[in-house]
Parts: sequence; C-alpha cells; structure tokens
Amino acid sequence: MNKTVLVSGGTGFIGSHTAVELINAGYKVIIIDNLSNSEKNIVDGIERITGTKVIFEQIDTCDIKALRGVFDRYDFDSVIHFAAFKAVGESVSEPLKYYRNNLISFMNILELMKEYTRHNIVFSSSATVYGDADVLPVTEQTPRKPATSPYGNTKQMCEDILRDCCAAYPVTHGIALRYFNPIGAHPTAILGELPRGVPNNLVPFITQTAAGIRKELSIFGNDYDTPDGTCLRDYIDIVDLARAHVAALNRMTDGKMTEKYEIYNIGTGKPLSVKELVERFEAVNNVPVPHKYAPRREGDVPSVYADPTLANKVLGWKAERDIDDTLRAAWKWQQSLS
Ligand code: UDP
Repeated sequence: MNKTVLVSGGTGFIGSHTAVELINAGYKVIIIDNLSNSEKNIVDGIERITGTKVIFEQIDTCDIKALRGVFDRYDFDSVIHFAAFKAVGESVSEPLKYYRNNLISFMNILELMKEYTRHNIVFSSSATVYGDADVLPVTEQTPRKPATSPYGNTKQMCEDILRDCCAAYPVTHGIALRYFNPIGAHPTAILGELPRGVPNNLVPFITQTAAGIRKELSIFGNDYDTPDGTCLRDYIDIVDLARAHVAALNRMTDGKMTEKYEIYNIGTGKPLSVKELVERFEAVNNVPVPHKYAPRREGDVPSVYADPTLANKVLGWKAERDIDDTLRAAWKWQQSLS
C-alpha cells in the first residue's frame, strides 16, 4: 500500500496540523504551498513536533506546469487538498480572485490525478454549504442552501466537481470533509493559526484582544433567536479535525470505501454561543477579553452545528478534545507569538 500523501496548502492552519497527524499515523507527507497565507518556517515546526523530515516545495497549485513536476517527481497515491483562499468578506469584494484560485487549483489536481492514475483525494469542504439550515443539527443529508458568498460557492462547486470526477474516472475516490469551526492550536504551541492583519475569525480575535493587540472584541449580534441572543456554532479542535483527515485517508487506502464519493460532517455536535465561548476563554485562561455587542455581521447564520454520527460510525472518528483544553491551547499559542 502506498502511504505517501501530497498535501496541498500544507503550511496553512489546518494543513500543518494535518501533516503532523499524518506523519504520526505513519504516512509520508509531501507538502506543497504557495505561502500566500503562511510561512516557510511552519515546515520546521512540523518537523520539530514529529521528529521527521518533510518534503516541501513552494508551488502554486494553479500553476499546472509546476504541479505536473510534483506528480512527475513523487510517487504518492493520495492527495489532501487544502490550498484555497478562505476570507468570506474578501471573496465578496474580489469574487474572481476566489473563483480563479479555488476552482483552478482543484481542477488541476483532479486532472493530474486522472492523468497519473492516482486514487484518493480528500477535499476541505465547509459547513458553510448548509447555509441557514431549516433543521438542526445538520446531517450530510441536509439540503445545501444557495451560497451567500463566492467563497461558499467555491466550496459547493468543488464538492460538485469532485462528485462528478469520481463518477467519471474509474479509479478516483473522493471524500469531502465538511468542517464546522476549527479552533485552537497544537498543544506544544509550535503550530497554530496565523491570521495576517485583523482576524476575521472569532478565536484569533479573542486571543489577540486578550493579548492587548486588539482593543476590544465586537460580538456580532445579540438579538438572534438563540438562547442568549448570540450565534451558535460547533467549535472543533484543530487536532481533532486533523485526525479526521487521517481517518478519511485510512478508509480510502484500506480500500473500504463503499461509494466513489463520500461526505462527512466534522464537528463535535455540541453547539456553543459566541458569548459562552468568550466567557469560557476568560475563565479557563484567567484573562479578560474586553468585548461589546455590535450589529450583526452580514452573511452570518444564527445557528449551525453538526450531527457527526456518520463520521463517528463510518470513519471511526470522534471529536475528543475538551473545549477548555482547546481554548488553553489557543491562548498558549498566542502567548508564544509575543
Ligand atoms: N464573531 C464575532 N466577532 C468577531 C468574529 C466572529 O462575534 O470578531 C462571531 C460571528 O458572528 C459568528 C462566530 O463568531 O457568529 C464565528 O465566526 P467565525 O468568523 O469565526 O466563523 P464562521 O462561523 O463565520 O465561519
């Protein structure tokens, strides 16, 4: 069995943690990344944690010629595709940047997988595909809602492209993992989330506010139809999320897939409100996070959380990390940066 895996976007937040868990599970990892939103020294971090040398090439997956070189040079049978832009707001103001990057990079990978007869691909999808779901928690059968941003649309389109390619290509198997809200950092504080500029996501904004880098956190909306008026989300620890990729890959490389294309929700199934999360962060880390209530943020759904039963049963994967440990790891990581 070929246990070498190409990880595109492997120096990003999710990619780097996944690389660590893959290596810990006995996979050999080849990382490609264009470093558009990450740093080369992340590779050193992965090597320090695992004690293993990692192959890294600075390659843009949109550059099919460069990507072809990777397929020529390395003997891998599986790909995990993370490389994508992910800022929802930016995607609204620069839609073509998102369509061009997120679609072309993925199509390049699929095209070369077909040409080089590579079998397995895991795609980073998102709970954003469910939009404002009518019934909660969402299962994989919950209908997708029309995307509310070009970013969200690229996730839906890539899922469809993957489904169609898996149906058309005899040897290609695909798994889309729909992530809920990934947070936290590696417990060693060697890896974590490194947003450039002002963070869009909640937890990096919380940690930067606690560290005094930001004056105050704005909680977007306290008039939602939820228990405390703030949005409900399903916060999944980054190491748990990383392990879900290993579980998906194991299923593929063990030849256990029953369909050519499968989808799994990767969440805890336990909703937390924004207010609860902020208060919990303050309590477990014993640090204040100055905050105020602000108007709703455009595009936010009131509530979304997973029914992770399918992943629990079929992938044998389960979210294990305690949210308090996750919030401690996030704070430890933030402190390690200063
Ligand atoms: N949020 C907030 N203040 C911030 C950033 C986020 O109140 O500075 C809220 C946001 O409205 C949402 C939740 O935190 O309800 C999670 O937002 P995030 O951007 O982290 O992830 P999303 O759920 O949008 O993918």
